Amino acid sequence: MGTRRDFLLGLAAAPLLAQTAKLKVVVTGGHPGDPEYGCGGTVARYTDRGHEVVLLYLNHGEKSCPASAGDPGSTVRTAEAQQACRILRARALFAGQCDGHAVLDNAHYDDFRKVLEAEQPDVVFTHWPVDQHRDHVAISSLVHDTFLRGGKKFALYYYEVGEDTFMFSPTEYVDISSVEPRLRAACYAHASQTPDRFYPEQMRISRFRGDESGYLLAEAFLPHIRSRRNLLP
Ligand SMILES: [Zn+2]
Repeated sequence: MGTRRDFLLGLAAAPLLAQTAKLKVVVTGGHPGDPEYGCGGTVARYTDRGHEVVLLYLNHGEKSCPASAGDPGSTVRTAEAQQACRILRARALFAGQCDGHAVLDNAHYDDFRKVLEAEQPDVVFTHWPVDQHRDHVAISSLVHDTFLRGGKKFALYYYEVGEDTFMFSPTEYVDISSVEPRLRAACYAHASQTPDRFYPEQMRISRFRGDESGYLLAEAFLPHIRSRRNLLP
């Protein structure tokens, strides 16, 4: 991991993350698949080093709201998320909202804060909020609210996903070249979500971020200006 400035200066990336500190990492996303596509390589890097990672999805990807019993969307996509998490050695967690019907009001801010704070995270990832999907924007806002009201205790990093994210200017990078096969497997675990279309798109972004940072493939992040730093793997 190195900053863009380091890259321009030709400085070698320093090992910034102490090998002995075990971290609790939560990667949030609007839907099953978002944390995997946007951060799956970084998740693999964390879990390979013995850190604990939770993928927290805003909803199950259900087809109706409220979901009917046995909703094929939620049953299929929940199982896909759990399989993706097994591949990444992470744990799946769901915040209980409905696909395409995200609610941002006081009660939902408070409910989400309880879910996230119960995990006692050291590091949290969420969508960059300028995004074309309401559910992505919603969970980004829920995370940001928890970050501020909870006293900025965890490091907060923003990530990008596929064609949905706009105007994202990352400053920190994680080399995912060596873990791409597991990233691919985790994304393809979401078989109902046309991975043959979306995975090549994400790889195009990873190659571009790799060009920026001096790696073959990279995932790119922007830390909140008030965030703790140097907690990327
Ligand atoms: Zn999504």
